[in-house]
Amino acid sequence: MKDYWQNYIDGDWVDGGAGRLDVINPGTGEKLAEQALADAADVDRAVQAAKRVHESGALTDMRPVERGRMVQEIGRKFLEKRNEIAQILTLEQGKPLWEAQREMDGAARYFEYYGNQAETVEGRSIPLGSGYFDFTHHEPYGVSAQIIPWNFPLEIAARSLSAGLATGNACVIKTSEMTPLSSWIFGELAEEVGLPKGAVNILCGLGHEAGAALAGHPDVNQIVFTGSVKTGIAIATAAARNIVPSVLELGGKSAAIVHDDADLEAFERDIRWGIFFNAGQVCSAMSRVLVHESREAEMVERAVKVAKSLSVGPGVERIEGTGGMGAMASEAQRDRAADMVAEAEAQGARVATGGRKMNIPGAFLEPTVMTQVTPDMTIAQEEVFGPVLSVIPFRDEAEAIKIANGTQYGLVGGVFTRDLDRANRAAQKMRAGQIFVNEWFAGGVETPFGGYGKSGYGREKGREALWNYVQTKNVAIKLR
Ligand code: NAD
Repeated sequence: MKDYWQNYIDGDWVDGGAGRLDVINPGTGEKLAEQALADAADVDRAVQAAKRVHESGALTDMRPVERGRMVQEIGRKFLEKRNEIAQILTLEQGKPLWEAQREMDGAARYFEYYGNQAETVEGRSIPLGSGYFDFTHHEPYGVSAQIIPWNFPLEIAARSLSAGLATGNACVIKTSEMTPLSSWIFGELAEEVGLPKGAVNILCGLGHEAGAALAGHPDVNQIVFTGSVKTGIAIATAAARNIVPSVLELGGKSAAIVHDDADLEAFERDIRWGIFFNAGQVCSAMSRVLVHESREAEMVERAVKVAKSLSVGPGVERIEGTGGMGAMASEAQRDRAADMVAEAEAQGARVATGGRKMNIPGAFLEPTVMTQVTPDMTIAQEEVFGPVLSVIPFRDEAEAIKIANGTQYGLVGGVFTRDLDRANRAAQKMRAGQIFVNEWFAGGVETPFGGYGKSGYGREKGREALWNYVQTKNVAIKLR
């Protein structure tokens, strides 16, 4: 493990004009390494390098299938380093090693999928009568800026990088200052598979400094962002000033509606994954369970059982199995989640299990289940981004939908019932970009994902995401 990590700009590893910042291992609270901090001048160098690549035609003149093969090759080579990179990801982010390996598999899958999609970006011909030949085709925007959060640093970077490259964009990634280390690999692999220098640039740096400089750079042609609503607003504002499109994925307060006929035994698995995977730091986490009042007691009992079954501790020690939960990504995030639990208690909610910071070094919060939560409480309205499940009872279907739709967010939703008509009604009425029926996190790289409301706009994953990275050109030919 190196003790100092630099920026990757135009094919070189370089220091940052804004100095250095410690990277902390949230599993121990100790310093792990230092990162170079990019300043506005470094951001400009990275953007100019990407722009040069774009203007050279090195990516756009290539036959799409060749670009696609390179993208797929990045994914294959990435998996060859599975053990090494997963270890780094665990150390910088706090998730258990098995989760880090799983994240790597997910990241590799994006390169496989979008590499494969490269040659499917086709236009159409438009009939204009006998005197004309008219067709559309799709061109990359040019320089794609991708600002990455710390919850899934590899998977989220892979998602935008693979789609961006597959469609022929040169990319500048700004990693999160909390998790800048593991993404280093993308710079090295881009070069290894034969992409030109400057096609992939990776910056470490602070949000208000490097992030803001990148989002506001006049030569950036398109922005992809995942993170908080507050930062999403700043990025959308910067994009608007330069009249460039942006994709915003801003988290949620997603609800599972659990009807009286639901299979609660099977639902235990959804609780385990829905809210305790990645210590709940998942934008599409199942942070609210709306349960029919007749099944509330059983549901809470099962949720408490799941929470108590998890062993919690530093990620690198949890090598085997899926029974462990790691640290949260920082002590600040952990404290914020613990404060939200305390505030909910003060408002009348009850902690059925967990809720306390753990008395060990590192950013650990007990897996938590809260009951007597009402829909208007902060904990039912705001993203906790931690391992905290809020249980809210409902009387009938209409009330469940109303509560589910009663936040500013709309990322995903779920419905658990044996009655497909009822499931379908919920799927139609829930205001969210993706609906899971009888399995939380059903779907995958192939299925479009993105928000309604304050959860953002644009879609990631699936073929839909490709349209974020290309613009349509129409060619109208007068035949003589
Ligand atoms: P954030 O939105 O501030 O950070 C995400 C990324 O944006 C980081 O790379 C950061 O450096 C960058 N950034 C910050 N300010 C910027 C600016 N002005 N211009 C450009 N880039 C900027 O998120 P955070 O502060 O790390 O976390 C706060 C909350 O955000 C979390 O508690 C959680 O609720 C939410 N969040 C959601 C997701 C998600 O997947 N949707 C991911 C991370 C955090």
